[in-house]
Amino acid sequence: MAAISEAEIRKIVEDVIKGVSSGKECNYSSTEYNGRKLIGIYNDMNDAIDAAEKGYKAVRNMTVEQREKIITEIRKLIKEEAAVMAEIGVSETGMGKVEHKRLKHILVAEKTPGTEDIVSNAKTGDNGLTLIEMAPFGVVGAITPSTNPSETVLCNSIGMIAAGNGVVFNPHPNAIATSNYAVDLINRASAAAGGPEILVCSMVKPTMESAAVMQSSPKIKLLVCTGGPGVVKAVLSSGKKAIGAGAGNPPVIVDDTADIKKAGKDIIDGCTFDNNLPCIAEKEVFAFSNIADELISEMQKNGAYLITKEQADELIPIVLNEKTGKNGKVSRVVSRECVGRDADVILAKIGINVGKEVRCIICETEFSHDFVQHELMMPILPIVRVSNIEEAIDLAVKAEHGNRHTAHMHSKNIDNLSAFARAVETTIFVKNAPSYAGIGFGGEGHTTFTIAGPTGEGITSAKSFTRQRRCVMADSFRII
Ligand code: NAD
Repeated sequence: MAAISEAEIRKIVEDVIKGVSSGKECNYSSTEYNGRKLIGIYNDMNDAIDAAEKGYKAVRNMTVEQREKIITEIRKLIKEEAAVMAEIGVSETGMGKVEHKRLKHILVAEKTPGTEDIVSNAKTGDNGLTLIEMAPFGVVGAITPSTNPSETVLCNSIGMIAAGNGVVFNPHPNAIATSNYAVDLINRASAAAGGPEILVCSMVKPTMESAAVMQSSPKIKLLVCTGGPGVVKAVLSSGKKAIGAGAGNPPVIVDDTADIKKAGKDIIDGCTFDNNLPCIAEKEVFAFSNIADELISEMQKNGAYLITKEQADELIPIVLNEKTGKNGKVSRVVSRECVGRDADVILAKIGINVGKEVRCIICETEFSHDFVQHELMMPILPIVRVSNIEEAIDLAVKAEHGNRHTAHMHSKNIDNLSAFARAVETTIFVKNAPSYAGIGFGGEGHTTFTIAGPTGEGITSAKSFTRQRRCVMADSFRII
């Protein structure tokens, strides 16, 4: 009998998981879900753009109240179907955790701002009245990642529709069914609330070519791109107004004034949320030497598994693949086989067999270690010992690589907290909490899955997708 290949075994396991992980049959593709045709999905990017333009024109003729009605219906459907999208997301991409993805969807439904985010301004004076209103751009072209696929489509759609735009998506090809399910949900919500049947659009098979068509179409007035450095660079070179939400590598500093028990738990909770897929999640720790042992022990009490330096080195070629660039230079890129995978699955690759109670792999490393330098997006957390706050800040800032994305700190020393916040210059800085507090999960403030550091919009919301317009009435309408 012929031996069964590793690829065949993987395919069989994937098929089984697809069928049984939810206890019910789950058939999906980029155009259908359980036999239901998804609405707003096109073979050709130009057709998708034309349909999104019609959606935009329909929104343009609506009152703000009507727009808000659609958004209310979107929130309702997200809550009802969060578990389905979480299941498809994990099944299709092989990444993340179903329960955490479900919570991320609920967060989007509850904390993404709607039309209330669009606020007009008025200026009156001796020369009359000037109004400043926040207008839509028109049709937005959005590129979305595989790590939070449906969450990003939904969060972007709520904000962009609230601002009065139409949207066409070119989602990540590895998460196309999940992303298109979310596109269809928006369209179903629109129809149910009396809006157009097709309000947002996407592709059957998104490619780099379809992204290029989107970027160069004169009908696309704003590009919003959420992903790694490659895609942000591409849209920023498009010659169009672009919002870029790029890569991070969030460092965490723990000094010797911190509540170490809480820090250990918070860091593991944040780092393991959706198996470390969120771009804001803790990626490397800089711990004061005098509390490092206690911190590691607290992490172990919270589901962390400590591996040796040798075991960490053994994992490097497994989680990072060598890639030769066009210039012949060899670099290391994260293995898609390991991104967002469970800790026990990664440990098994070096012959360590543990149960699902292990949430995170921790190891002590030096600063130059690949686990510190690369954005791994998997539950592996390197810990570097430091002697003082100056060294901690210096190394943490370097590890963040100038992304200015997210950083975290556990401390009760306000001088240390302020010094790190000032030095690292990140869009999000979380103090004494798990990383997800930074996007409104257990922390104040609205949520987003598009954190635009490079272009400066920050925690994007409806107003980020608007353009200012001024209307002047000279010498009248000052009524005082
Ligand atoms: P990715 O960069 O592989 O892909 C993101 C999207 O860009 C996909 O739709 C992909 O098809 C597309 N793409 C890639 N290169 C392109 C190009 N040259 N032209 C046009 N489209 C292109 O990202 P991923 O692995 O899905 O997501 C992980 C990365 O995204 C991480 O670096 C993470 O930090 C980042 N991210 C950032 C945010 C944020 O809000 N800042 C949110 C989520 C993810």
